[in-house]
Amino acid sequence: MYDVIRTGERRTTDSGQRVSLPGAPGLAPDRTQAADLGLRTADTGLTECPKTVACEWIPAPYEEFGDGDYGNHDKGDRPASQGIDYIVVHDTEATWDTTLKLVQNPEYVSWHYSLRSSDGHIAQHVPLKDVAWHAGNWYVNSKSVGLEHEGFLTSPDAWYTEAMYRTSARLVKYLAKRYGIPLDRQHVLGHDNVPGTTTATIRGMHTDPGPYWDWAHYFKLLGRPFTPSAGPDSAVVTVRPRYAKHQPLYTGCVKAGQPCAPHGSGAVRLHTAPAEDAPLVKDIGLRPGGQDSTNGVNDTGARASTGQPVRRRRAQGRLDRDLVPRPEGLVPQSGRAADRGELPGAAADAEGRCHGRAGVRTGLPGGRGVRGDAGPGAGPLAAAVQAARRAEVRGG
Ligand SMILES: [Zn+2]
Repeated sequence: MYDVIRTGERRTTDSGQRVSLPGAPGLAPDRTQAADLGLRTADTGLTECPKTVACEWIPAPYEEFGDGDYGNHDKGDRPASQGIDYIVVHDTEATWDTTLKLVQNPEYVSWHYSLRSSDGHIAQHVPLKDVAWHAGNWYVNSKSVGLEHEGFLTSPDAWYTEAMYRTSARLVKYLAKRYGIPLDRQHVLGHDNVPGTTTATIRGMHTDPGPYWDWAHYFKLLGRPFTPSAGPDSAVVTVRPRYAKHQPLYTGCVKAGQPCAPHGSGAVRLHTAPAEDAPLVKDIGLRPGGQDSTNGVNDTGARASTGQPVRRRRAQGRLDRDLVPRPEGLVPQSGRAADRGELPGAAADAEGRCHGRAGVRTGLPGGRGVRGDAGPGAGPLAAAVQAARRAEVRGG
């Protein structure tokens, strides 16, 4: 809160009113009365958090069940034994209380941190040296830190609060500095960017934090806003729609097939030609039968999200600028990510599954099998899935 008061803030409301709060740079909180409030002191235990966030230790249990079976995470010695290269952003599809119950269940799965929606409070469950089970991809699990944000992806205004974005960004900055993780979308992934390990697992991959997570705002808070780094004819562009104004139709927030309430989105749809009415690209991983992609809020089949680079197709000797028919949502890009020209992950989800009240799906990994058994070999396989996805984007 003091951060906002110090830097100031301005916003245009949904009804078009401009609200501005001038910054008061020198302002500091008076902490002298805090002790009189008699507040509970949280157990900071083995927490690994920046000093600028409230952080408590609520450990996830490690338990052996015999016959080599165990839960709910792996003991490790990272980064000595295994580099930490990724941060995976999730939402819980559960309330705070349920989230804490789940992570303390030895027979369930785990993640490193939970972040509370109402105030951005953080609980750490697994030491960073250990491997938590959250991404549904063993390779990614072993090399990542998992952050679960309390909320439901179909109700972003109710759950994706500014307080939570801010403490999450502080935590991510701290982790990035500690392990040398680049602050870009190739390393700060949504769970919906994590590819399946094999063809068979693609359809079971999760869709959180979904199309309403504000990646542009998040990266601004991380001090790495997405800005143009190449000329307008660059072969690679970064997806960056204007979140508030960009309101594509999604369906299935409340009921399958029913339109969701109009809302800003950080995701764009990928079409097969530069026209709004051109068919969506198909995702052969999600739908091996070749069926069409849909507008479903959990259908990642023809979707790219803010910060992801997309290579433009060359058509008849010139660049086709409108692979995604919203040119204002694309920012020319150079540099390492541009050289690779890839979507960071072949996100995948089964169609027609619904969150929230319709209640079928949880953003949390669903069961002990999800840590997967593909091992480090998942890397090339995941790359193959990405290659297939890229071919689909280009060739469509
Ligand atoms: Zn997730």
